[in-house]
Amino acid sequence: MAKNTDVMEARLTIEEDFKKGYDLPVYVYKPWCKSCEICVAFCPKNVLEMGEDRKPIVARPDDCILCKQCEIRCPDLAIFVTREKKK
Ligand code: SF4
Ligand code: SF4
Repeated sequence: MAKNTDVMEARLTIEEDFKKGYDLPVYVYKPWCKSCEICVAFCPKNVLEMGEDRKPIVARPDDCILCKQCEIRCPDLAIFVTREKKK
């Protein structure tokens, strides 16, 4: 379980990345990722793949349907969808 200080640090890092213009439909907070590949396995559109650092990368962002399966299945809250599905 993440400590409060870890959560604060994560929030600051993520905010910084978005200020710098992060613009993909999915974000991976690498320090919390344990490289289990569950998100890759459950993505129905094959959007994610494991990078050389054994963390997921958003390899095919245009195929993402914002279904949130990656976010819901990650046991470590390390990945989240950055956009709302259009109604
Ligand atoms: S499910 Fe979570 S912990 Fe596992 S590889 Fe994906 S982001 Fe990392
Ligand atoms: S939101 Fe759905 S389609 Fe997009 S990366 Fe996550 S699991 Fe794949």
